[in-house]
Amino acid sequence: MKRGDDEHWTEYAACRGHDPELFYPVGFAGPALGDLARAKAICARCTVRSDCLSWALRAGEPDGVWGGTTPEERRYIRHAAVR
Ligand code: SF4
Repeated sequence: MKRGDDEHWTEYAACRGHDPELFYPVGFAGPALGDLARAKAICARCTVRSDCLSWALRAGEPDGVWGGTTPEERRYIRHAAVR
């Protein structure tokens, strides 16, 4: 991917081909923690993780795991950034 070419970062997403439901666990406690851990492990080796997280923060994405973060973690990042 060329630097600055952020329109096509999804082509390099490590989550492509994985079950999308992993990235949208039902809740973030109990049995859903297994899906959450698997999703975060995929994100941890993703080469476009920072692009993904930046996009989710800009978009205010309210659901799912993006850039290795949960919605709650993104809310914390957004609130920390405005302090
Ligand atoms: S950081 Fe995670 S959710 Fe984002 S593109 Fe990569 S694997 Fe997919």
